[in-house]
Amino acid sequence: MHSITLQGMTFETLFSAAELNTIVSEVATRINNDYEARDPLFVIVLNGAFFFAADLLKKVTVPCSMSFVRLKSYTGTATSGELRELVSLVDDITNRDIVVIEDIVDTGLTMHWFKLHLLEKGAASVKVVSLLYKPDSLQYEDAQPDYIGRIIPKKFVIGYGFDLDEQARNLDAVYALKQ
Ligand code: 5GP
Repeated sequence: MHSITLQGMTFETLFSAAELNTIVSEVATRINNDYEARDPLFVIVLNGAFFFAADLLKKVTVPCSMSFVRLKSYTGTATSGELRELVSLVDDITNRDIVVIEDIVDTGLTMHWFKLHLLEKGAASVKVVSLLYKPDSLQYEDAQPDYIGRIIPKKFVIGYGFDLDEQARNLDAVYALKQ
């Protein structure tokens, strides 16, 4: 097991680059089976999901399109459950089958809010694919991902898109904080 130290904290490999490749392939196979002839619109949640989305979409073989959003909690009002789009969807999503690509579902607040937002904008269906999922943290039942790469315990992870104060996203493996 490889370990790295950042900001005085030790992180250990949770999923190697090879394991991530296998995980992404498994998820892609399920999506290819479910979305044949539906022309889904993949909505990629920046910044964290960009590595996962790039690798996943290269393995998606059904006709599809893609778009990007950046979501952020309202500062100081996190408990209200309100988010805003820093980068907004420009596409008309009326009657589209949407697949949101997220890096991780933790409390579920982000996906709870975003799914409702997409349905209000006229999406025909909204499913969520998340590389990682922490069920022990979930507070919003409807935010449980439809496609899950791996379930993990309540640990802080970095690498492969996951950041530590905007650093470490470029690591090619996922590392978990050693506790
Ligand atoms: P939620 O709204 O589900 O509580 O949180 C989702 C967001 O929190 C994720 O998109 C991600 O940006 C951030 N997040 C949750 N857990 C982790 C983690 O272990 N590591 C990092 N780097 N970000 C996390």
